[in-house]
Amino acid sequence: MKILVLNAGSSSLKFQLFNMLDLSSLASGVIEQIGEAQGHARVEYFDSSGNGQVLEVRQSVPDHRSGMELMAKLLRDNEILTEVSELAGIGHRVVHGGELFHEPVLINDEVIEVIKELVPLAPLHNPANITGIEVAMEQAQNIPHVAVFDTAFHQSIPEHAYLYALPYRLYEEQKIRRYGFHGTSHHYVSKKAAEYLNRSFDEMKIISLHLGNGASVAAINQGKCVDTSMGFTPLEGLVMGTRSGDLDPAILFYLARETGMTIAEMDTLLNKESGLKGICGNNDMRTIGQRAERGDAKAQLAIEIFCYRLKKYVGAYIAALGGADCLIFTGGIGENDSRVRAKSLANLDVLGLALDTKKNNSRTDTILEIQKEESRCKILVVPTDEEFEIATQTVERLTLPSL
Ligand code: ADP
Repeated sequence: MKILVLNAGSSSLKFQLFNMLDLSSLASGVIEQIGEAQGHARVEYFDSSGNGQVLEVRQSVPDHRSGMELMAKLLRDNEILTEVSELAGIGHRVVHGGELFHEPVLINDEVIEVIKELVPLAPLHNPANITGIEVAMEQAQNIPHVAVFDTAFHQSIPEHAYLYALPYRLYEEQKIRRYGFHGTSHHYVSKKAAEYLNRSFDEMKIISLHLGNGASVAAINQGKCVDTSMGFTPLEGLVMGTRSGDLDPAILFYLARETGMTIAEMDTLLNKESGLKGICGNNDMRTIGQRAERGDAKAQLAIEIFCYRLKKYVGAYIAALGGADCLIFTGGIGENDSRVRAKSLANLDVLGLALDTKKNNSRTDTILEIQKEESRCKILVVPTDEEFEIATQTVERLTLPSL
């Protein structure tokens, strides 16, 4: 039997098919530019002789329904998944699970209603996730569907860390609190790190740095997340590709008073025009790194600001945890950018973090251990795999004895 993982974004549909027995990947793909004049599908899979194949299709994909049909056709025509009945279940990535979902759930009408009620908390993500679920449930009716929430891993954060110092009624009436995101990734890499170090996840203090286009830090104590840098929305915390991360909220009052900026304009400013892009005009760390090497001062400044914010969070989370056994870098930047890793951990020997420059500059496709021998805290680069984690959690949910 097989497990399909679906991640529906506003104009894309990512999918990956796994063998349920050993969770080996059978195929993965993405359909992009859904709703635009020309859509694009790409599927990577292993044929019956075990050879890797790549398929590319360009055609109009007007909506998620046709995206899902195209995915099913590509899987069927290439004998990757011939019958829906070969699926033991479908795992769906859902960004926001609010306070209700602490773990993966089997999706029924009631669950869909609750995810819909959470749309105001994640207006960009949850609607696309719901469309993906509804279309998949129509097309694969007798298959169990499981929702895996990005917020779930952070539901163990204690009250003193998730509440903002706002009037308490705003939490009671509007549910304003820290939710945190990237939970599936933080959970996956921290379990992997414990396994690699041959230690029990439930006895470790871990700091996980997920540095991609979006970026967040999580503090994990004895297998439970106790704090994270993203907050009520993914805007808070670290400097990101186009998001500002932390800032003085009074800047917004000032901008509104002085420039007459609207709420929508401020939303775009902080989410789409700030962060690395705001500082140096580019949001891609690879390009920024190349510009910095050529002596571009703005690109160098963007990296400086990014790494300084990161360093402050590392210090804060070592304090919050009372020390750390392991610090993990993951995400596109965390996994690949040795300069960012070195800069953000420079001079932190005092906190037990000593990076080995040579090891930091080496590469592997698996886990890389990059601390000096004398470093109290292990420093690991762990490639993330959110789809694998969703598949794992889907299988766990499906094989749980029903209550
Ligand atoms: P997303 O958050 O969209 O999943 P990724 O985790 O793929 O994004 O991270 C994207 C970021 O990773 C981009 O800033 C990209 O430039 C950066 N990145 C990817 N590869 C490298 C590399 N080799 N060196 C530096 N940065 C990289």
